[in-house]
Amino acid sequence: MGIKRILIANRGEIALRIHRAAHEMGIETVAVHSTADADAMHVRLADHAVCIGPAPAAESYLNIANIISAAEIAQCDAIHPGYGFLSENAKFADIVEAHDIIWIGPKPEHIRTMGDKIEAKRTAGALGLPLVPGSDGAVSDITEAKAIAEAAGYPVIIKAASGGGGRGMKVCNSPDQLETLIQQAGSEAKAAFGDATVYIEKYLGNPRHIEFQVFGDGNGNAIHLGERDCSLQRRHQKVLEEAPSPVISHEERMRMGEVCAKAMRDMGYRGAGTIEFLWENGEFYFIEMNTRLQVEHPVTEAITGLDLVREQIRIAEGRPLSVTQEDIEFKGHAIECRINAEDAFNFAPSPGLVTYFHAAGGMHVRVDSGLYAGYRIPPYYDSMIAKLIVYGRTREGCIMRLRRALEEMVVEGVKTNIPLHQELLRQDDVLNGDYSIKWLEDWLEKRE
Ligand code: ADP
Repeated sequence: MGIKRILIANRGEIALRIHRAAHEMGIETVAVHSTADADAMHVRLADHAVCIGPAPAAESYLNIANIISAAEIAQCDAIHPGYGFLSENAKFADIVEAHDIIWIGPKPEHIRTMGDKIEAKRTAGALGLPLVPGSDGAVSDITEAKAIAEAAGYPVIIKAASGGGGRGMKVCNSPDQLETLIQQAGSEAKAAFGDATVYIEKYLGNPRHIEFQVFGDGNGNAIHLGERDCSLQRRHQKVLEEAPSPVISHEERMRMGEVCAKAMRDMGYRGAGTIEFLWENGEFYFIEMNTRLQVEHPVTEAITGLDLVREQIRIAEGRPLSVTQEDIEFKGHAIECRINAEDAFNFAPSPGLVTYFHAAGGMHVRVDSGLYAGYRIPPYYDSMIAKLIVYGRTREGCIMRLRRALEEMVVEGVKTNIPLHQELLRQDDVLNGDYSIKWLEDWLEKRE
């Protein structure tokens, strides 16, 4: 069924991103916004706009009743949730479909399965994805926990089944700490996520974060679009992402990509997904699956030439995938810098009035951002204000172009982490692609 009008249940650069794909397909857009976002760029560009509540996200961007009402009043036939907010809320997906509105996302049951980390791991294992060694499911009994940790080998990590955003995890180095840490992790998880269930995994010492982009049509066909390397992280938050990974050979990409695509075929997965792995000593270990578009999707777009949002919309309309696995060619290299309104080195948020803004441009440079001079960055939401995505035929060329593009970017009135990116791109380890998920924090510590 052809979609005519999409409600974009999000804000910021991703709302713009979705608007652009929709308009390129001749589809109208409806922006929803909080009172704090009345002047936002996505509200200005969309065909229609509806205010859905006050500034706090819980009362606006997470307000299911108001969003559904907006969709009905504005006569939308589809909802795109973007990332974050309600994008991985299975109940929301169910409600959208119950209102005969097309949900531009995976089947609600798959969102539900992958949202519970224990269930996700069990499913991934059954589908043939390699797992981090550890408990088969929830752990409660301490004798059993000790046996599991012993078998996996210390250190181990205790994780919350309902955890997310890098929270609710405890590293345990020896058996005598295990009981206390399990109890602590459980009560913290209960407080943060309303669910005390925890499980145990071997703690990998120095892995990379490598994730595969997948797409399914919901009818048993699925493809992969290669990997992204997101190892440069601070507090489990990605800072810079690249595709392809500097450590994965083409053979390995196609082998592991096929393992992921086959898993999605067997599942009957629909839409865009990302399968996240830790990678150490040449081995992949599944950690979780995200059933949505990711922030870093443009690096995949840059090296494949595919528009991932357009693909999501097509699949939601019930059309087949626009490409076969054989059609996909990986070309060149792409890097994304997440530009945040924050102090570059102490990371204190810096919302406020943007007095001047100049985006970088030129060949193979893409800036996804809702920023403009005179815009006031509200303090209520994520600090990411722009994404700079640069493509080059080689990794080296891509880095040269990225440095050039960063020189051009001007944001005045608020602080940004542009100086952090500039300094990162002068570090030998980054230039050589020689970094793990620990690298950035170690480097920041040494820098002080
Ligand atoms: P979340 O959903 O909270 O982001 P993840 O399971 O994706 O949780 O893990 C987030 C991050 O925590 C990973 O990118 C990695 O840095 C670290 N991590 C998770 N599991 C392990 C593990 N078994 N060993 C080492 N680090 C881990």
